[in-house]
Amino acid sequence: MVRSPIYLDNHSTTPLDPRVLESMLPYFTSIFGNAASKSHEFGWKAEQAVENARAKIAHLIKADTNEIIFTSGATESDNLAIKGASEYYRTKGNKIITVPTEHKAVLDTCEALQRKGFEIKFLNVDRYGLIDTEELKKSIDDSTILVSVMTANNEIGTIQPIKEIGRICKERGILFHTDAVQAAGKIPLNVNDMNVDLMSLSAHKMYGPKGIGVLYIRSKKPAVRVVPQIDGGGHERGFRSGTLNVPSIVGFGKAFEIAANEMESESEKLRIMRDRLYNGISTQLDHVYLNGHPELRLPNNLNIAIEYVDADSLMMTMKEIAISSGSACTSASVEPSFVLKAIGLSDDLLRCSVRFGLGRFNTDEEIDYTIKKVVEKAKKIRELSPAYRVRMQ
Ligand SMILES: *Cc1c(COP(=O)(O)O)cnc(C)c1O
Repeated sequence: MVRSPIYLDNHSTTPLDPRVLESMLPYFTSIFGNAASKSHEFGWKAEQAVENARAKIAHLIKADTNEIIFTSGATESDNLAIKGASEYYRTKGNKIITVPTEHKAVLDTCEALQRKGFEIKFLNVDRYGLIDTEELKKSIDDSTILVSVMTANNEIGTIQPIKEIGRICKERGILFHTDAVQAAGKIPLNVNDMNVDLMSLSAHKMYGPKGIGVLYIRSKKPAVRVVPQIDGGGHERGFRSGTLNVPSIVGFGKAFEIAANEMESESEKLRIMRDRLYNGISTQLDHVYLNGHPELRLPNNLNIAIEYVDADSLMMTMKEIAISSGSACTSASVEPSFVLKAIGLSDDLLRCSVRFGLGRFNTDEEIDYTIKKVVEKAKKIRELSPAYRVRMQ
């Protein structure tokens, strides 16, 4: 028997790794100091813990420690990167290039800047969600100041040609921001290889606590500046004021340390489980289509359309399995996935799309149970579908 419910929604958030929790606990109790208190041991100990975590995170993305800025999460990191850089470099130009399949934290931020007079250029994506780097080259002009393209997509798992995008931006002297939230801990990240100037990260997508994020800000070649979005006290080199969330920062550091040690084997394990899930479903059901790129995708992501099977109906019949559908992907609103729309999925297939996000704590038994349930319930739903019966005659 598998334990129920089964969590397969790891792109939304991940459970806290018990090792991360353990690392955090002393910082809620005995080591409670303010990391900005310079005059006593309580402060020094907290500061030491923060700097230790900062070093671990810097190490994993090959950054310098002074390039790691702690924020309240990747939403804030995306805001700080895009608004902060746009405001700072406004005298150089007002055009920002991004992609329609970005996370809302990027899209809504760009929209806010558009209202303030910035021009937002959206690159096209192909049926896999990939951008065309030739279109990027052509889109860059004298007024362009920033390009923002996510490393890996949170719905379809597609991994963009980040290195190439970074190279193009570098050649043209344009800043490059990437939201690497979903990629961190899954694929190697190296800010120098990737030619990235600004990178957003979040702890709760990699088995750390919620409410803590990082913005990597390149300090040399070039020294990138952003206008702070939160003032007061001058913490984090003035980029982000506010008393540091020491327990969460310690947890984020631990989460990164675990990822550094285990990413290679874990990603391979996830890939095998993910392929088992896909093969299990697609060999027992006809008309199953993969959304996103078959190879250039995150190892833990499976997004499929099961034609003639309404995703929300499917999810209703297997409430013990936590997945998400193409129509309820943004937390606050129930609307068809703009990512699936952008890759050209028909409304019919869009309604039949489900996302499985595998994670560190999933087991083969859970995957087998999920295959069995999805196949059984999908067949039942199809039995009631006149369109399916006509198609199969
Ligand atoms: C979850 C997520 C965010 C937002 O991160 P928070 O830390 O929850 O604010 C941003 N971008 C991507 C790609 C995400 O998956």
